[in-house]
Amino acid sequence: MHMAEQRHLSNPALRGRLLLHEPMRKHLSWRTGGAADRAYVPADLEDAALFLRTLPAGEPVHFVGLGSNLLVRDGGIRGTVILAHSSRAAMRMDGELLYAEARVASPKVARYAAVHGYAGAEFLAGIPGTVGGALAMNAGCYGSETWDRVERVLMLSRSGKLVERGRADFDIAYRHVVHKCARLGADEWFAAAWFRFEHGERAAALARIKELLQQRIAAQPLALPNAGSVFRNPPGDYAARLIEACGLKGYAIGGARVSEKHANFIVNAQGRGSAADIENLIEHVKHTVLTQQGVELVTEVRIIGDKP
Ligand SMILES: Cc1cc2nc3c(=O)[nH]c(=O)nc-3n(C[C@H](O)[C@H](O)[C@H](O)COP(=O)(O)OP(=O)(O)OC[C@H]3O[C@@H](n4cnc5c(N)ncnc54)[C@H](O)[C@@H]3O)c2cc1C
Repeated sequence: MHMAEQRHLSNPALRGRLLLHEPMRKHLSWRTGGAADRAYVPADLEDAALFLRTLPAGEPVHFVGLGSNLLVRDGGIRGTVILAHSSRAAMRMDGELLYAEARVASPKVARYAAVHGYAGAEFLAGIPGTVGGALAMNAGCYGSETWDRVERVLMLSRSGKLVERGRADFDIAYRHVVHKCARLGADEWFAAAWFRFEHGERAAALARIKELLQQRIAAQPLALPNAGSVFRNPPGDYAARLIEACGLKGYAIGGARVSEKHANFIVNAQGRGSAADIENLIEHVKHTVLTQQGVELVTEVRIIGDKP
């Protein structure tokens, strides 16, 4: 495997792992894409903050959670990726609020809230990313959105400081979040969040999670690498309906194919598709829907990195 690990980090107090030329396909649900120059796996929040302080001022930094909404071009990423997912990241009840680090997987929040007798987090069970990714995307489904439940957040700044911020510091919209006082994803990232859920019945919440997951298995092509919905739903309509109306179900470019099961999903068939195949297919779908249906689809998945 083309992967080098450098233990002698620039600061001996650092406790995380630095990976050089790290293939991003290992960290993305589409299972394709180029390598990052450097990737850092922080040991915890303080370690992530210290690592950011050691980076040269001009070094580009990208946070990647579970990579379930992300396409990295085949030429890879110049700069440093922070791999912000951990099965050991902190989650606890803080009084009536649920505190979760951004590195916690969203489905774990759903289960944790349910077993502690809270309702309203169930929708997160079907969103296979991290809390950080859910906050950045305002991820949602079945009529619920992440930010409906956020009380306040802890941010990590490019200069390695941890700062608490309130909801009023952000403009929140459908699958879209704008930081009012800093550049989200360049100057500040989500480190943790406090969520408010209402009291509910444990058994009912667990049953709801099971039901939501069954609905997803029935409707989504989960057996093949994908990144969920590729396009946002335009106001009053569904991207999947428009794509299907253009006869694009099953349309393929290289190894990338519009799913026959759900037209707003692009699958990496046999795992052989390149990031270029997927990006070209995204462009083809956009162009076709615009010319045939007169609707300009907006991409929900984020695309980063260089062309080869
Ligand atoms: C099968 C499937 C089903 C899905 N269903 C849904 C759904 O129902 N609803 C929905 O909304 N989404 C859905 N998605 C998309 C995706 O799971 C969500 O957008 C998820 O919240 C992304 O989290 P992530 O950790 O994977 O983010 P990533 O893909 O790793 O990153 C996405 C973006 O968030 C940024 N980011 C990540 N962590 C941080 C952080 N700590 N601070 C700041 N920015 C950060 C990244 O830089 C990037 O720009 C689905 C995806 C799949 C594969």
